Amino acid sequence: MSTKKTRLQRQATRELRVGLIGDPVAHSFSPRLQQAALDALNIPARYELWHTPASELLRRVHSLCSSDCLGANVTIPHKQAILPLLDKIDPLAANIGAVNTIVHRDDYLHGYNTDAPGLLHALAEHGIGTLKADNQVDLTGYTVILLGAGGAARGAAFGLVSAGIARLIILNRHLERAQLLMHELQRYYTCPIFSLNDSTFLVPNSKSVIINATSVGLHEDASPLPVEDLARFDADTFVYDMIYNPAQTRLLTQARLLGMRTANGISMLLHQGALAFTLWTNQPAPLEVMRAALL
Ligand code: NDP
Repeated sequence: MSTKKTRLQRQATRELRVGLIGDPVAHSFSPRLQQAALDALNIPARYELWHTPASELLRRVHSLCSSDCLGANVTIPHKQAILPLLDKIDPLAANIGAVNTIVHRDDYLHGYNTDAPGLLHALAEHGIGTLKADNQVDLTGYTVILLGAGGAARGAAFGLVSAGIARLIILNRHLERAQLLMHELQRYYTCPIFSLNDSTFLVPNSKSVIINATSVGLHEDASPLPVEDLARFDADTFVYDMIYNPAQTRLLTQARLLGMRTANGISMLLHQGALAFTLWTNQPAPLEVMRAALL
């Protein structure tokens, strides 16, 4: 390994800080993911949990302007509320309307969304689409059935259509929320987009990917998609569940029994974290170190 010091190592006269802003934060896997990466690259920084109720959000954001702070991750319930408190917002994050990564750079706080590209990188790792030389993922030809229209689904939807999918079908319990997301996407993209709240109207296509971005399956043994509707899809359908704890949701179990390929959301967690790490440090993330930290 080179003995040349990086900018971060040279700059650090005291320990640097980066952390997670949210309420709650105690359950998060991010500290072990990010600390392993910081330590592996000898970056003298600590990843901390910054429990922040809404009433303290402004004060917390101000604290990020300190010279020893690299930035932050943002989680529930602040991903939307934090946008107007930042100096600059990356265009993808602005379109999605959610920030999950803040970078303190040149005395400004920059907001990014790494959930969306994190999902795309995860899909590419599972053989869905290709990762191009410019680090963008190409999903040309795929039809995606996106279950949900909440915060995570919004990021996924913008990411997916920007990756060139052939068709997006948004299925959500409250139809108006799916319709709203569809209309917002249609302002920026020409990809055919449909919204549904009844899965019996799904028309299976070849090259289909089903993504669960609802919280159904997180706290209960339930699936957001009735098994009889899932069974209408080809066995080569790929089913991705953003939920990673539990590792096997009912949706994934039923899909596997139908012979479909499946994966849970741990790969998305890994890749969104790796992209955030690179934004803070300007260095490639040690992906295998981070993956091992999640095991
Ligand atoms: P939101 O609260 O913003 O959205 C929840 C979604 O789930 C909505 O579409 C909602 O539908 C739907 N939903 C909730 N309960 C039910 C129900 N009983 N029946 C049908 N639909 C329901 O949550 P997020 O978007 O932030 O998170 C969604 C999931 O994604 C969570 O499980 C979260 O853990 C996971 N996630 C994983 C990440 C990763 O890195 N792997 C990153 C981010 C999120 P409606 O609009 O009708 O209320």
